Amino acid sequence: MRELIPISLVSEYVFCARSAWLAYVAGVFEPNEFTVEGEILHRRVHSKGSGKRTGKRQWRKVPVYSRRLGVVGYADLVEEIEGQFFPVEYKRGKARLRLSDQVQLCLQGMCLEEMLHCPIETGYIYYASSRRRLEVDLTGPLRRLTRKAIHEVRELVQQDKPPPAILSPKCRGCAQRSACMPDMPNVERFSWEEWLA
Ligand code: SF4
Repeated sequence: MRELIPISLVSEYVFCARSAWLAYVAGVFEPNEFTVEGEILHRRVHSKGSGKRTGKRQWRKVPVYSRRLGVVGYADLVEEIEGQFFPVEYKRGKARLRLSDQVQLCLQGMCLEEMLHCPIETGYIYYASSRRRLEVDLTGPLRRLTRKAIHEVRELVQQDKPPPAILSPKCRGCAQRSACMPDMPNVERFSWEEWLA
């Protein structure tokens, strides 16, 4: 059987392939203010408990998997309204749809489809600072991109060194920055093979 890959790894890969390799192959992770804030948010969301409120049923921290896709993870929240199910992902910060977050939500939706045997075409991302939920279409282009990302991640984890660093604004909040050293021109001379051995 194929190895199941975490949904969070696919999402991280879409954020930055090098970051995904450093975190999941080399095991590098240095918490920073952003990751701690995210962790606290998720603990708060998961501790609220499941139940029924204002016409909808809610379940929190729901384990999800897909044998077909070979992925596993969990959804922060799953809601059911009149027989339809919607995954909801919680994010720190202001309302801004990032592709990596949409792929994470799409994977949760695809897993739930397989588990519940019903179509799931819409999900939501809640942004804590803005206190807003943005709707995400889980069909069409996003679904194609998500499938492609899973395939690419399977190739990434077989590599014995990370993809090259590409310095960009997202490096600022990256938990792999000190290992990645995106602003060092000679960083690729470092031997990851020796370091991992
Ligand atoms: S610092 Fe930048 S290039 Fe390096 S892993 Fe993070 S996001 Fe990727």
